[in-house]
Amino acid sequence: MTEPDCLFCRIVSGDVPADVVYESDEAIAFRDINPQAPTHVLVIPRKHIATINDLEDGDAGLVGSLYLAAKAIAAAEGIADAGYRAVMNCNEGAGQSVFHIHLHVLGGRALSWPPG
Ligand code: 5GP
Ligand code: ZN
Repeated sequence: MTEPDCLFCRIVSGDVPADVVYESDEAIAFRDINPQAPTHVLVIPRKHIATINDLEDGDAGLVGSLYLAAKAIAAAEGIADAGYRAVMNCNEGAGQSVFHIHLHVLGGRALSWPPG
């Protein structure tokens, strides 16, 4: 399922270019256009899901695959041991601006907690 007006669906289809660093049958990952850390990669499902609130029981494996992608990306980026964050925002109040779920993988610098 894709949404023609969704930016990230258009990246999945190749209509919008992106610096892709990982691809699987279920997910792709690409560098954020406005990186907030030396490594800032977005991992997204190929399937359009707008927010965490729209996940269904059958998506459990798909969401797991996003974290397995994050693990592989962190290793490839050399940030796995030092530490990194893999986080998904849900809805405007948490800072979500693109309504196709995406896991932010951030690392390469010290990350404070809690986030703002
Ligand atoms: P959100 O705010 O929804 O959690 O995260 C959306 C992310 O998408 C932001 O970090 C933003 O910089 C990134 N982004 C927005 N438009 C584009 C784009 O066209 N290409 C890429 N690679 N990243 C984008
Ligand atoms: Zn989409």
